[in-house]
Amino acid sequence: SKVPSITLNNGVEMPQLGLGVWQVPDAEATAAVSTALEAGYRSIDTAAVYENEAGTGKALTSSDIPRDELFVTTKLWNSASETWTRDGVLREFDASLAKLGLDYVDLYLIHWPRAMRDDYLTIWRAFAEIAESGRAKAVGVSNFHVPQLERLLAETSLVPAVNQIELHPHFSQAELRAFHAEHGIATEAWSPLGQGGELLKAPVLAGIAAKHGKSAAQVVLRWHLQLGNVVIPKSVTPSRIRENIDVFDFTLDEDDMKAIAALDNGTRLGPNPDDFD
Ligand code: NAD
Repeated sequence: SKVPSITLNNGVEMPQLGLGVWQVPDAEATAAVSTALEAGYRSIDTAAVYENEAGTGKALTSSDIPRDELFVTTKLWNSASETWTRDGVLREFDASLAKLGLDYVDLYLIHWPRAMRDDYLTIWRAFAEIAESGRAKAVGVSNFHVPQLERLLAETSLVPAVNQIELHPHFSQAELRAFHAEHGIATEAWSPLGQGGELLKAPVLAGIAAKHGKSAAQVVLRWHLQLGNVVIPKSVTPSRIRENIDVFDFTLDEDDMKAIAALDNGTRLGPNPDDFD
């Protein structure tokens, strides 16, 4: 495949680019994922809360691509009740596998830390059991900040393979990226295109895009890849799905990288994980 992989801290290979399916209705997910697989994507990012694991799984299990060439991520949602128990986590994981129609996932993530609930250590120990069982090839977290990562490192013996965080040129997460690099945690960028909003209209991106004969979206994805981030751009539009993977035939130069880095204005699109329950 033309998408390069990164090696996670347990030796598992993860494609550096995949398709995100947040906000894709279950009935549309099958077509979007099938289009992506045809275009060369091998990694798909879903979550229990997206309510499209079934539609996503249908595309995966009906494709001719061998299971071991696919990379499937799903996530544990915040408990509707108060806190997660070990048994609750294991049940929820089983429910995700059943909806996907798979007997393992490649990556299972804690969707939000909910530090105010103080249950992420319990969840993480259950994730360690899931990883040991082989039913998740790797486990990781999402939306964790340095204090929560430090607590996992201090109080458990399992280092998250991945932290999936909001990251785009308007919010480039220098502190977390440095922490991840120091501790062997892969950085995965959610909303890598800034959700297709104002970011993609930045004049500096138009200039760089024209210079390389690429689109602003492709330039942003290339910036992520050259930083070493994993990206999971979302689209249901076949032409955009193909456009977003067509980013391996050009290279941004140092000036391009610096000009894009200068777009950081500290603007989050999603909730602050410190407050989100
Ligand atoms: P994104 O940055 O991927 O932007 C997607 C939007 O950008 C599309 O809906 C479309 O409007 C536009 N777009 C896509 N391709 C384009 C192109 N080539 N040209 C112009 N516009 C284009 O936003 P996202 O969906 O929020 O994030 C990607 C994925 O990250 C999600 O689908 C999901 O899998 C994941 N995610 C995870 C979390 C988390 O808490 N872990 C939160 C948000 C998203």
